[in-house]
Amino acid sequence: METPGSQTSLHRANLERVVRAVRMAGSLTQAEIARSTGLSAATVSNIVRELKDSGTVEVTPTSAGGRRARSVSLSGDAGIVIGVDFGHTHLRVAIGNLAHQVLAEESEPLDVDASSAHGFGRAEQLVNRLVETTGISPGKVIGVGLGVPGPIDVESGTLGSTSILPGWTGINPSQELAGRLGVPVYVDNDANLGALGELVWGAGRGVRDLAYIKVASGVGAGLVIDGHIYRGPGGTAGEIGHITLDESGPVCRCGNRGCLETFTAARYVLPLLKPSHGADLTMERMVQLAREGDPGCRRVIGDVGRHIGSGVANLCNLLNPSRVVLGGSLAEAGELVLGPIRDSVSRYAIPSAARQLSVLPGALGGRAEVLGALALVLSEMGDSSLLESTLPAAAPAFT
Ligand SMILES: [Zn+2]
Repeated sequence: METPGSQTSLHRANLERVVRAVRMAGSLTQAEIARSTGLSAATVSNIVRELKDSGTVEVTPTSAGGRRARSVSLSGDAGIVIGVDFGHTHLRVAIGNLAHQVLAEESEPLDVDASSAHGFGRAEQLVNRLVETTGISPGKVIGVGLGVPGPIDVESGTLGSTSILPGWTGINPSQELAGRLGVPVYVDNDANLGALGELVWGAGRGVRDLAYIKVASGVGAGLVIDGHIYRGPGGTAGEIGHITLDESGPVCRCGNRGCLETFTAARYVLPLLKPSHGADLTMERMVQLAREGDPGCRRVIGDVGRHIGSGVANLCNLLNPSRVVLGGSLAEAGELVLGPIRDSVSRYAIPSAARQLSVLPGALGGRAEVLGALALVLSEMGDSSLLESTLPAAAPAFT
């Protein structure tokens, strides 16, 4: 057995640090690996050579700051990861490899609330079809990341009763899908997956502390602290939508009054435009009209931005993130919403918390959650299967 502190266990710990850094970043130069792991350049160089010899990583020439460098990524054929995202009205599936290449992606309309069994059946079909068309050996699939538009109870793994998916209450989504696909399934809510997607592939690349804000039928935040999603013991961290803005404001679905959500979510703000713009207005259409210059839509979006900014200011005072990424269809409004968010942040956050903050629109649009589901597998899969070929087999525990 490996003794803690022994040469073997130190070596294994160093291998894991390098593999984890590359696994989450996609590709890094050796200098970047040294910076992010704290290992010396010489140690990184030795470990990369060892991982390359075992076929775990690929090393390709590149340039960094005009100098020749070597870019290290996990070997593309070392394993396959799959992302499945249930939105309220769609199902989206993506297939990727450990080198962060997306090999296939497809979405189809789906009334997710109607029946969970129907939803999982459609997901199974779409996954199997994409695996077949890309010619991947099913044995290469390491795991599936699954996104659901509601909070997951950490202890039971089921969708909570406060969920906005009434037909799914009490269902254990990861067990349901794992039973159908025969591989491990990791599940998380849409805000956390959006945060992971933007962190790994989008507007959050290169930062370690980030808040991803998604405004849709509800308002949620995915929090990344020091490179990891922070869920809290009950899995409800990031419920920014229920920060109180006005004690005598409208009654929220949580039972409180004047929550941030009651000033920003679609069901509260679209009715403001009903008399002037009709009852069929959607969030997407409101954003489009605002971009075309419609004064009413601009006013509503500006107010939404100011209110989100109040919540973001509180978040900055507590967590001091270096980046806030706005996702969902509201992000398409660009400066019409981002400007008012920044104004509120500079008004309500303490200066030292806001100084290094950048507020950006998401770069991935509607793909953020499914790419986040791929990133969830990369984050949770562990390194054992990757390091098997590198390390000598461990001695049996009882000899
Ligand atoms: Zn509330």
